[in-house]
Amino acid sequence: MEFMQPATWSEALAMKAAHPEATPIAGGTDVMVGLNLDHGRPESIIDLTRIRELGEWGSDDGWLRIGAGVTYTKLIDELGDRLPGLAMASRTVGSPQIRNRGTVGGNLGTASPAGDAHPPLLAADAQVELASATGTRRVPVREFFTGPKQTTMRKDELIAAFLVEPAAGPQQFSKVGTRNAMVIAVCSFALALDPARRRVGTGIGSAGPTPLRATEAERFLEGVLDEQGSWDRRTRVSEAAVTRFGELVASAARPIDDVRGTAAYRRHALSVLARRCFTWAWAAA
Ligand SMILES: Cc1cc2nc3c(=O)[nH]c(=O)nc-3n(C[C@H](O)[C@H](O)[C@H](O)COP(=O)(O)OP(=O)(O)OC[C@H]3O[C@@H](n4cnc5c(N)ncnc54)[C@H](O)[C@@H]3O)c2cc1C
Repeated sequence: MEFMQPATWSEALAMKAAHPEATPIAGGTDVMVGLNLDHGRPESIIDLTRIRELGEWGSDDGWLRIGAGVTYTKLIDELGDRLPGLAMASRTVGSPQIRNRGTVGGNLGTASPAGDAHPPLLAADAQVELASATGTRRVPVREFFTGPKQTTMRKDELIAAFLVEPAAGPQQFSKVGTRNAMVIAVCSFALALDPARRRVGTGIGSAGPTPLRATEAERFLEGVLDEQGSWDRRTRVSEAAVTRFGELVASAARPIDDVRGTAAYRRHALSVLARRCFTWAWAAA
């Protein structure tokens, strides 16, 4: 196996152009598990850990631009106040050791339907910045996932960063697993409320071939909050409306039966998670 270790971003992009089949490695918390379990043996690996800017974040025209190599720990510590939904999800990832190594870029790269960073990124309408030796493009995260572990990323591209606006209102994330830590989600849900734009954002994890948005549920809740003038006055939202929101989230899921849970359980759990997330978020608003 060839092991390449670029020192700069342009070197990394040139290596990926010359070796499109090469597997990039960041924290290695997915790649090394695959190697150890002999799920495949890449001919070559490009280690991205020496590229300083991948581990940095900054502001870009009102957005936060966060390098693909920023770890969960760094994100929680440095951006938890601006990205509370993503920070909540990050706190549920693995263990402290995994959060110290694992990166959101790696979560996007693996593109597992159960990746915990995906629902809050969907709810916040984030973008993924992809780069190759020939240029850079930004893809809305809702268009990034094309199937289980499949994305729109080309073989000559790397994930440079993801971009997300600082939270403009309350955000929540909730996950069901067989225990509290070190567990793959049975299903998960993220919610982002933006009172100024009167916008509701959602993200569903581990209940479909890709992470999903519940767009009908979003429009329904926006309508309810508009109709009641609740965005401004923060009035109580009826139990019936919250229940309907949960039902619409559940119906947007496309779950399967597998070792972690049945499709029916996932739908039920999602309706509960959606109701809870909204109730918590509305209380915070
Ligand atoms: C014990 C354990 C517990 C875990 N618990 C959770 C959990 O609770 N929730 C969860 O979501 N995940 C969990 N994971 C999975 C893993 O930690 C996450 O998916 C993590 O985000 C992967 O990040 P990484 O930097 O380690 O990625 P790596 O393993 O380095 O890479 C992952 C994938 O992304 C690609 N990649 C990495 N960086 C780039 C880049 N810049 N450009 C293009 N492709 C890139 C790699 O080629 C690979 O395909 C767990 C893993 C372990 C071992």
